Amino acid sequence: MSEYGEQLNYIDGEWRPARDGKGIAVLSPSTEEQIATLADSGSEDVEEAVSAAFRAFAGGRGEWARRPARERLGLLEGVLDGLLSRAEGIGLMEARDVGHPLRLAQLFHAAGAPEFARAAIRLVDVDNTEALPLTEAPTLSANFVLREPVGVCGVIVPWNGAYFLSLYKVFSALVTGNAVVLKPPPEASLSCLEIARALAAGGLPSGNLNVVTGGTEPGAALAANSKVDRISFTGSTTTGRRVLESSAADFKRVTLELGGKSPVILCADVDLDRCVDGVLWGAFLQSGQVCAAGSRLLVPEERYDEVVERIVERASVLAVGDPLDPTTDIGPLISSQHRERVERYITAGLEEGAKLVLGGGRPTQHTRGYFVEPTIFAGVDHTMTIAQEEIFGPVLSIIRYDGLAQAIEIANGTAYGLTASVWSRSNRQALEVARQLQAGTVWINEHNILNPHAPFGGYKHSGVGREFGRRGLEEFCELKHVHVDLSTGPAEKPYGLLFGGK
Ligand code: NAD
Repeated sequence: MSEYGEQLNYIDGEWRPARDGKGIAVLSPSTEEQIATLADSGSEDVEEAVSAAFRAFAGGRGEWARRPARERLGLLEGVLDGLLSRAEGIGLMEARDVGHPLRLAQLFHAAGAPEFARAAIRLVDVDNTEALPLTEAPTLSANFVLREPVGVCGVIVPWNGAYFLSLYKVFSALVTGNAVVLKPPPEASLSCLEIARALAAGGLPSGNLNVVTGGTEPGAALAANSKVDRISFTGSTTTGRRVLESSAADFKRVTLELGGKSPVILCADVDLDRCVDGVLWGAFLQSGQVCAAGSRLLVPEERYDEVVERIVERASVLAVGDPLDPTTDIGPLISSQHRERVERYITAGLEEGAKLVLGGGRPTQHTRGYFVEPTIFAGVDHTMTIAQEEIFGPVLSIIRYDGLAQAIEIANGTAYGLTASVWSRSNRQALEVARQLQAGTVWINEHNILNPHAPFGGYKHSGVGREFGRRGLEEFCELKHVHVDLSTGPAEKPYGLLFGGK
């Protein structure tokens, strides 16, 4: 029996194998050994899960949907406490399953994610009474807005932040009264199933959270199911486009959090002592498998040589290796196919004339596991493939610019617009640049820091809609305007427009 055994789907309060009995072998990306088996679900499993959520929601008359928001929040916070108390074990599971270095897996993912979700769901409007200004024309009325659950929410997440994003999305959907079907990625489902176990133990009524594991087939079936009212999707731009297309038939509410090619702009006055580690944190955190990864470093002509030297020198200290070894900084990539994809980009960089100044290969000390060295290209032209497409690996492209106007043009010159950062000693100058960038988040003298209160999402091909903060919660709600007549009768109303003098 493998380490985490046979994992089943969670549907209508029961643990069930896939209808056709198929399973997926889960391999650890650092050892290539099987550590678990997942249910390889098909569309019938998705239909069962969606039907369970549909029954639980019952058109908004379900017990969970009608429970006061304050009580829902209380139950969910208790479940987050429980998950937090198990952060060490869940972090270990993430390190084995996804290859995140233990430090990152335990502190950011396993311990950070429940606290992030807690801060986000506490923004729920527990009184649910947003009063609007008294309205006098065309007739005297009091008006207010109710936030109601949308209904059955399909949640689809990628492997690079599966636990973090599932916690945020599932708990946001639940605190606002929805019922959920979660489809985690096959590469990172183990911790997501722990969320279902915790919610079941914490007393969430059956059917309000269902988890169906597997790959493309259950994801596509969920996005196409007509009983699903809303899809909250995070993943690649290619898949996001398919999800949007299949959601169109039923006018599903959709948020899409997609890929990125984030620029990191160093201004000419930049303090390198303050920014070098930040640039590398932006580029190589989680082996660059981060949607917001700062994979394009834009450097002014006059500081170019100095910056390349400092960046390469500092990146050389990063240790690639076993995620369970506490001295490891950079773990493996998620799979052998993904490593091959990243390596194809490295080859493209060389073929198109970029200069390899660090890494570029597989570390020789590891015979097993999907490792790639931190890789840096200098002399990158912004039109090259490695400067335009999302690589999602430990590959940084350094691009030269001449004047901030050109830097802004290069920064905005990809199909993406997720995040960006600007580094300068002058906040005034950095703000001026930030205003001109097409990106949903701009960090000044920082990169890759998420904030549960701040809206997060993309311009252009990086997505549709926003997560986190009040706006993120609102995406899980329908807004209902209620108008209460305060006039003394028909004479004070605009009915004359219809009846004339009759
Ligand atoms: P992916 O698009 O391949 O898969 C994402 C999820 O969609 C997985 O659960 C997958 O099984 C499922 N899926 C696959 N085909 C589907 C289909 N036809 N219909 C519905 N669902 C389907 O992405 P990935 O490789 O798992 O993740 C990496 C991508 O995610 C990168 O592009 C990264 O930038 C992006 N990402 C974005 C954010 C953000 O907040 N913007 C955050 C994390 C990751």
